[in-house]
Amino acid sequence: MVAPVVPLHLYRTLSVKQPFDINRVVDRIREAVRPFPKAAMFALAEEGYISPFEQLIACLLSIRTYDETSLVVARHLFTRARTPAEMVALTPSQIETLIRGSTYADQKAGQIWAIANRIMSDYNGVLPCDASVLLSFTGVGPKCTNLALGIACGQPCISVDIHVHRVTNRWGYVETRTPEKTLTALEKTLPRDYWIEINQLLVPFGKHICTGKSPHCSTCPVVDMCQQVGVSEHR
Ligand code: SF4
Repeated sequence: MVAPVVPLHLYRTLSVKQPFDINRVVDRIREAVRPFPKAAMFALAEEGYISPFEQLIACLLSIRTYDETSLVVARHLFTRARTPAEMVALTPSQIETLIRGSTYADQKAGQIWAIANRIMSDYNGVLPCDASVLLSFTGVGPKCTNLALGIACGQPCISVDIHVHRVTNRWGYVETRTPEKTLTALEKTLPRDYWIEINQLLVPFGKHICTGKSPHCSTCPVVDMCQQVGVSEHR
């Protein structure tokens, strides 16, 4: 007997769920996020800011800063300095002026200059695609390291920001309390083909559909497979 077709929007009220299929989920989310602006680092990569140094610096600028602002700030900084040699020729206070608008601009300016200076002295002016090197810089954590290595170096890395953490927990795909634990859990369960792309998909998805407060479950393309963990209110 053929199972009755249940319209997507009724899955919420009927509490009937399909088995979670990551391939179908990714396919549907690719379609759903197409109209929205791309996540900042991926947008910059498309504009040609694709070196590990540019990606790392842009990610640092995006910390605790809205994408809309950090994109403008990164582009502005790169008009003056796109390489470690060009960056180290500026003073930290010149960098601070260029990145005004990003949160903690004074602190980030010092970190950016120090990163460029070390790349010049220790790595002959070229940032290597090496996680241990990136993680050794002050201000750089796993999120920016993995994003830079994924986008600029093509290394399979998962970058877990607040959106990736929140959405994958709501799906019930992982069950974790911190982004660090989500990274470890995703490394065990997420197919490698999606390691770089998951951030690209879930940043716009988390901003516009699976929002922090009151997610848009009634129109969500994956409501039939999502366990909606912790969602008490939705649109
Ligand atoms: S919007 Fe709702 S149904 Fe869609 S992924 Fe988020 S919690 Fe799940």
